[in-house]
Amino acid sequence: MGKTAVGIDIGGTNIRASNISEDGRIIKGLKEPLSSSPIESAIALIDGIITDDTVGIGVGVAGIVDRGSGRVTLSPNIPQIVDISITRAIQERFHLPVVVENDADAYAYGEKWVGSGKGFKDFVLLTLGTGIGGGIIYDGDLFKGAAEVGHMIIEGEGVKCACGGYGCLEAYASGRAIVNKAVEAIEKGQDTILRACCNGNFYKLTGELIYRAALDGDNLSREIFRDFGRYLGIGMATLANLFSPEAIILGGGLLGAWDLFIELARKEFHRRTLAPLQQKVSIIKSSLGQDAGAIGAAGLVFKSL
Ligand code: ADP
Ligand code: MG
Ligand code: ZN
Repeated sequence: MGKTAVGIDIGGTNIRASNISEDGRIIKGLKEPLSSSPIESAIALIDGIITDDTVGIGVGVAGIVDRGSGRVTLSPNIPQIVDISITRAIQERFHLPVVVENDADAYAYGEKWVGSGKGFKDFVLLTLGTGIGGGIIYDGDLFKGAAEVGHMIIEGEGVKCACGGYGCLEAYASGRAIVNKAVEAIEKGQDTILRACCNGNFYKLTGELIYRAALDGDNLSREIFRDFGRYLGIGMATLANLFSPEAIILGGGLLGAWDLFIELARKEFHRRTLAPLQQKVSIIKSSLGQDAGAIGAAGLVFKSL
């Protein structure tokens, strides 16, 4: 068998670990819910998939990563991982090279390596999940900035964001944002079939439930996805104006509602992107889905050797 690299994806909900071949195929994958000690969980998962052919371990983690030290410096969704040297903890146990990267950046690298981004030299990847993650491939390689595209500010005095700031894209165009909007509308007494949901516990609403209500013709739910699309379009226009990418690749759970938001997202995008920059931009879906982060993290290991 050829060389492999282990890719780990530490997210706000799950940890995934996959052993990946040199051509980007998953040889074996494991997943478990996030625990209070994610590094120990990661080490146990690595133990379950590592082989004698494994040449290194890549970790994608939801948060701002100091790439030099392999430490997370900020993570609103996984506070228990902040300030621990992930590199050192994993190296002590496995004695192999370790690469630590932001999860969405690893995702973007995975799409570039063996996914929808393969044919593009420049693209921006957005993960539309509970929040919004971002990764940028620039001139064929991972752009080593923070790429915190979810915290691009699109309303000066806008809605409060999970980061503590106001008016971020994530506060308008994420899974959390659409649920918040639905709950607020219900509390204001707006007419919607969502009111019959969750035995009156509206905090149990999810993006999927709002999606299903929209398919059933619920006006509030349909409007929520149209607004989601408008804001996403504004955010994508700013990204195109800054980076002139060939593509914007969208991933994450919200892709499930693609048909309900993409038309308005494209319309807003075309209205706001500078004319010479917009023709070349394809707005497309990610192809690796939930495995992209682990695949990309493993790809970064092969690249670093
Ligand atoms: P994370 O990595 O942040 O946990 P995911 O990419 O798994 O996020 O996406 C989860 C989010 O996507 C949740 O907010 C969920 O409600 C939402 N979601 C999943 N499926 C759909 C759908 N069909 N329509 C709208 N939202 C959806
Ligand atoms: Mg990122
Ligand atoms: Zn923010």
